[in-house]
Amino acid sequence: MNQYIPLSIPNFEGNEKKYVDEALEQGWVSTGGAYITRLEQELARFLRVEDVAACQSGTAALHLSLVEAGVRPGDGVLVPPVTFIAAVNPVKYQFANPIFIDCDDSFCMDPVKLRAFCEQECEFKEGVLTHGGRRIRAVVVVHVFGNMADMEAIMRVAGDFNLKVVEDATEALGTRYVEGRFAGKYAGTIGDFGAFSFNGNKIITTGGGGAVTARDPQMVTHLRYLSTQAKDDPHYYVHHEVGYNYRMTNLQAALGVAQMEELEEFIARKNRNYGLYSSLFEGFELAEMMPFRGGVASNCWFYSLKINRGRVKASLREIITALEEKGIQTRAIWGLINEQRPYKDEETYSLERAPYYAERILNLPCSTQITTADIEFVTKEIKSLLEGMAR
Ligand SMILES: *Cc1c(COP(=O)(O)O)cnc(C)c1O
Repeated sequence: MNQYIPLSIPNFEGNEKKYVDEALEQGWVSTGGAYITRLEQELARFLRVEDVAACQSGTAALHLSLVEAGVRPGDGVLVPPVTFIAAVNPVKYQFANPIFIDCDDSFCMDPVKLRAFCEQECEFKEGVLTHGGRRIRAVVVVHVFGNMADMEAIMRVAGDFNLKVVEDATEALGTRYVEGRFAGKYAGTIGDFGAFSFNGNKIITTGGGGAVTARDPQMVTHLRYLSTQAKDDPHYYVHHEVGYNYRMTNLQAALGVAQMEELEEFIARKNRNYGLYSSLFEGFELAEMMPFRGGVASNCWFYSLKINRGRVKASLREIITALEEKGIQTRAIWGLINEQRPYKDEETYSLERAPYYAERILNLPCSTQITTADIEFVTKEIKSLLEGMAR
């Protein structure tokens, strides 16, 4: 019997224990401490931006971004249907309404449909976009699975209709353009705001944690202020705004600093293993590996296998259960957010590819520790399973 091959587990091969011990010994375990500043500096240097604020989670980073973008109760926010629900929940925290726009073949927001929605379904007067009387203030763009959304086209639409762009780069730390107008730019540093996550299964982890950046560095300062209860005086309790308890702790940041030292290595391994899966599935008729966007160096965080539903009779659930019995953990791409109970009455626009992919995409084991032998085993088992299910 083979060992269990998990979908995605964290990797602590570096200085994690040493730095966390140091933070403990120094007694700095909470939202003050040198590791937080150091992590922020490491992130800013890596992303080539002026400033980054460390947060308690990616969700907190996204919520702060919407607050700073000025999203108010009753506003509309354009969002994706096929992603993790945390990308959309903060819209509701602001008592605003999501409007779901279809994805393209990268699973990220389709810029053609985004433009069509703004042009055909909205009014644009004096710099204000409205839809049925609702002000559309922002768009949340998710860089799904480490892919890069088509930011060239999306930024043009946002410019034409005066939309704030919140990039959910929680899955895409390290993904960057290598060609075109944004060559050298990292996911999360192109729009107005960029949110990152260091949850357990992300490319680097702090247990739970996140970070936020903004094009305007003064906004990052303000985001940090909001994340620490909007404290206006360090000694007396003076607060001029409603703040949040969204700051990362020093213990988490100690983990994060160690993980940042390994990020390039993790990206290299994710890329290599993606290449290996791709070559092993080459020419297989019942499933194919989905590519990452051209002109982009992706972090290749999660791998997507598209099942040929014309030939394979089984549902994703049946495939996942059968693989689980072989000791291989896989998962389905997410259920559509617009079909979840809190969102089923919200508006959708031209959803075609999202439901298509929701029925076909299987994510394969992708931990940075996975071995070549593991990948060969996973591929062989998936092939023989699908062959047995094919018509
Ligand atoms: C992980 C993730 C988040 C949320 O990050 P947390 O740190 O878990 O709050 C948001 N959006 C997407 C697309 C994610 O994958």
